[in-house]
Amino acid sequence: MFAKLAEDLAELPDLLEATRTYAGRILAGLDSRPVAAMASDAGSAPLPESGEGLRAAMAAFAERWEPGFAASAGPRYLGFVTGGSTPAALAGDWLTSTLDQNAHGSVGSSAVALEREAVAWLGSLFGLDMPGAFVTGATMSNLVGLAIGREWLGTQLGVSVTDEGLTEPVRVLSGTPHSSIGKSLSVLGIGRKHLISVPTLPDREAADVAALERELAAGPAIVVANAGTVNTVDFDDIRAIADLKARYPFWLHVDAAFGGFAAVSPAYAELVDGWSEADSVCIDLHKWLNVPYDSAVQFTRRQDLQVRVFENQSPYLGAPGAVPDPMHLTPETSRRLRALPAWFALSAYGREGYREIVERNIACAQALGSRLAASPSWRLLAPVRLNVVCFTPVDRQVPEVLDALSRSGEAFLTPTVYQGVPAIRAAFSNWRTTMADVDRVCRALGV
Ligand SMILES: *Cc1c(COP(=O)(O)O)cnc(C)c1O
Repeated sequence: MFAKLAEDLAELPDLLEATRTYAGRILAGLDSRPVAAMASDAGSAPLPESGEGLRAAMAAFAERWEPGFAASAGPRYLGFVTGGSTPAALAGDWLTSTLDQNAHGSVGSSAVALEREAVAWLGSLFGLDMPGAFVTGATMSNLVGLAIGREWLGTQLGVSVTDEGLTEPVRVLSGTPHSSIGKSLSVLGIGRKHLISVPTLPDREAADVAALERELAAGPAIVVANAGTVNTVDFDDIRAIADLKARYPFWLHVDAAFGGFAAVSPAYAELVDGWSEADSVCIDLHKWLNVPYDSAVQFTRRQDLQVRVFENQSPYLGAPGAVPDPMHLTPETSRRLRALPAWFALSAYGREGYREIVERNIACAQALGSRLAASPSWRLLAPVRLNVVCFTPVDRQVPEVLDALSRSGEAFLTPTVYQGVPAIRAAFSNWRTTMADVDRVCRALGV
């Protein structure tokens, strides 16, 4: 064995303890770490010809790279839609690497059985009675849902897309889809051009269902319903869209990457009413479930078609069987047991814990929204429907405001354009965030 590797093995308990101490120091310093670090210049170093072992690697990382890492796990990183990592999720993640299971199949380990339990718990949390699988993020969850939809559409036209490839154009209808939908259509060979934009309701990002119905009358299609748009967290009327299934053949995919967490609070569950009628549903977990990257769940009621698309055909891997293994359900074959952090988090905090996080984050968004609305220097661009505040400065430029905020180290918010207006988004989805953080963000913005 390479000498340094043998030394690390001999010292393993101490090295893990040192790593734990270092991680503890990082977490204890989250509150004072600049929220968005000005990327420090770590320079470049050559590949070590003969490494110096784990302690030296940790010292090199701590010196060269860690100072430039953002406090994205902390309470005032409000850019994009960014969750943190709860204590239980972090422990689950450590143990995922410790046990290093290959969750591709159920032979020789109960890891995949745990994944099934985690999926069932998520189904119960969200009120979705469908089988599912873990994937790396909402982009992948959307891609898998659309791939199954593509196969379903093939069955309507009498072809197996899986075997023969696309022989007919596929129409995909959506009001305000996330950018990952276009990316998925590109990957799936459907083509970005075949994403047909459905008009939205006046001053809304939600699809006009009457306009959608007119498109559906033209033939079978995939409909992407949006349950939480990134700019204003607007929701399509999923119930009304689902009701159209009685009259038109279409595959209903719901992108509920973060908006799906509305279901966790009785006060907001109505926003996703009807989503259990969907054919496939995407929910991100590294956002509002607050598990570490990379994690999302993909639900579908047509696992038979899913297996057709993703079956990993090889004598050495075996046939899918009645309860298909994950390698026959998702793009990966070998895969990390990314269900374990989610399992730990759900086990530790349960339904009530998540309800509290979701409702507190929404209350924070509403508080920020009210303060901006009451100030003559700011304009709220949409009502705060859930956990995102979309606003713009009245007499300053967005880049100027955001640069100053990032430099203060107090908070990190990201820009967007909404209805042609340069704007700022503040997205609340971190378990640590409290009203005291809203105060700090307001002070830093000068609200
Ligand atoms: C974040 C997001 C995605 C993409 O999620 P990733 O986890 O970054 O792949 C897709 N749809 C919506 C609505 C999102 O908010």
